[in-house]
Amino acid sequence: MFEYSENRFQIKPSVKKQIKSLAYDELVDYLQAAGEEKYRADQILHEIFVNRATDFSQMTQLPKHLRKMLAEVFDITSISLEEKRVSADGSVKFLFSLADRKFIEAVYMPWANDDGEVERSTLCISTMSGCPVGCAFCATGTLGFKKNLSPSEIIDQIFIVEQELGTKINNIVLMGMGEPLLNYENVVRAISLLADEKTKVISRRKITLSTSGIAPRIRELAHSKFPPKLAISLHATTNGTRNKIMPIAQSFDLSSLMDAVEYYYRHTKMKITYEYIPFDGINDSAEDAERLRKIAQRVPSRVNFIPFNDISFTKPQGVSFELKPSPPERVARIADYLRSHKIAVIVRDSFGRDIEAACGQLALSREK
Ligand code: SF4
Repeated sequence: MFEYSENRFQIKPSVKKQIKSLAYDELVDYLQAAGEEKYRADQILHEIFVNRATDFSQMTQLPKHLRKMLAEVFDITSISLEEKRVSADGSVKFLFSLADRKFIEAVYMPWANDDGEVERSTLCISTMSGCPVGCAFCATGTLGFKKNLSPSEIIDQIFIVEQELGTKINNIVLMGMGEPLLNYENVVRAISLLADEKTKVISRRKITLSTSGIAPRIRELAHSKFPPKLAISLHATTNGTRNKIMPIAQSFDLSSLMDAVEYYYRHTKMKITYEYIPFDGINDSAEDAERLRKIAQRVPSRVNFIPFNDISFTKPQGVSFELKPSPPERVARIADYLRSHKIAVIVRDSFGRDIEAACGQLALSREK
């Protein structure tokens, strides 16, 4: 089922700064330099993050002259909704354009309880347009790197989706286009703005950052002001296989990655999630199951088995061409083995198969 929405958030290229990209202290500095009181920064944050003002004229807590001054210097909204596709399973895929006509995606996934009521609304958002990492199983990787998203461009995905769907997102996953830890400063700033006591958009414990394994940045993230939950895109249990399907693994091998994961757990005390796409004959043997057990038992963790989204539309070559999903019974065997060792395992269904939900699929077709 497809649904196209009119472009009601259209923005034009602008030389103005994005106000949602400013840290609180920077906003205070700007205001004080302009002769305004510090408390105006709190009011502005409240208008943007709590009242969700989309225009400075809506900021009625502020005096007229300040609204006018802000409108001359800053933009509030930094991305435009281009397209929205609604799946029969309830998930919704959003395509956004940036001011420079690059594209990014976000996917809304409702998780229902046994009575069919949505008890968790998850939004998977992007941190880059394209991605430089080039994992063999990922459509976004074939786009190459386009740009790092600003904090405002990261946050606006959430705000526009909430407005479009009329629902509150209560779980955010940084697992869309891009490697978040290669856009470290902007991602950490976006998380800080979302989790801050002044904005109260969402708790850091409801934000999951998924990384392909940039080990030094995982350690750094442990000391950020609002460390999120950490998910590792593992997808292999040996360096040889990982190097083959995730080129980044050549820079950060499993040993350095696992040391960084242990470090993160020690400092945050939050369970680690390992994401694993089982590929037929590549990473789904009994030996893989045993190595995965050892990895998952190093610190409190859980394992998510994710189905392989078809990427044949990218005309895959080399190792990408060889990747096929594991038969479900083999995935179930590995999952049972891990569970028998008291490891929490989730075998995920794919959301949105009918709406081109493979990460990067919509953006790729739009770029072309
Ligand atoms: S899986 Fe993530 S890190 Fe790998 S290419 Fe795709 S977006 Fe980049």
